Amino acid sequence: MLPRSLGLLAPMADRYFVESPVTGHAARLVAGEAHHLAHVMRAQVGDEVTLFDGSGAEFTARVERVGRADVELSIVSRQAVNREPRVPLTLGVALPKGDRQRWLAEKATELGVARLVPLLTEHGHVRATSAALEKLRRAVIEASKQCGRNRLMEIAPPQSLDEFLSAAGEPGARLIAHPSGMSCPQVLDESMPPRAEPQSVAVAIGPEGGFTRAEIDLAKSRGWHVVDLGPRMLRVETAALALTSAIVQRLQAMS
Ligand code: SAH
Repeated sequence: MLPRSLGLLAPMADRYFVESPVTGHAARLVAGEAHHLAHVMRAQVGDEVTLFDGSGAEFTARVERVGRADVELSIVSRQAVNREPRVPLTLGVALPKGDRQRWLAEKATELGVARLVPLLTEHGHVRATSAALEKLRRAVIEASKQCGRNRLMEIAPPQSLDEFLSAAGEPGARLIAHPSGMSCPQVLDESMPPRAEPQSVAVAIGPEGGFTRAEIDLAKSRGWHVVDLGPRMLRVETAALALTSAIVQRLQAMS
């Protein structure tokens, strides 16, 4: 369905997120999603839209009733549509501040990150409060509506770097970004050689103050590869997306 006031819109934009898993033949949109469908798109009974519930499927649904605060729909069909990268990608990152944090969550969702873990590091001072994490979850839903992802990127509770380095991604490729490591193509050749797809990939990105030497030594002792992203100092979110994107493209090339 296209908005009546705007002629053209990419089809991906016409997706609605249902908070509770769709199991039967009916679904209900509430809050912002209902408002958007009812008042912005001015849906009428009989219109068809796409719903997703974060479980991996998407649904064609027909509008049955437009209420003041909710919209009821019937499920016409269910399609399992997988737009995930070939292996799960975990991004551990010492979060930047404010809006750059939201931006990072949005772009990581678009690139297909499975799980974002806020990292607590020696030089990182940004507190990942539960209100801030809730905002990031909202950004994940908005980005998933737009980019066509049917699984939501998980926003994990914050972890210390130590915990993250021991828990994340074994067996799999594990890459920590720090100026002074090997170049990104070299590390990818070594940790993700052609025809040897890893079971998972984990990435660690430091805070604006950087990782300490002790933190890098710890990562190395746990078998992590240190990756240099070039001679310019990148902001946290730029480094996170540059490395994520290189990995996603490499996985894509393995298919
Ligand atoms: N002042 C810090 C830089 C922090 S940049 C320092 O000297 O280390 C924030 C994080 O982004 C870094 O901890 C690292 O994980 C990543 N990063 C930024 N630029 C990078 C580069 N050129 N190579 C590798 N990692 C980089």
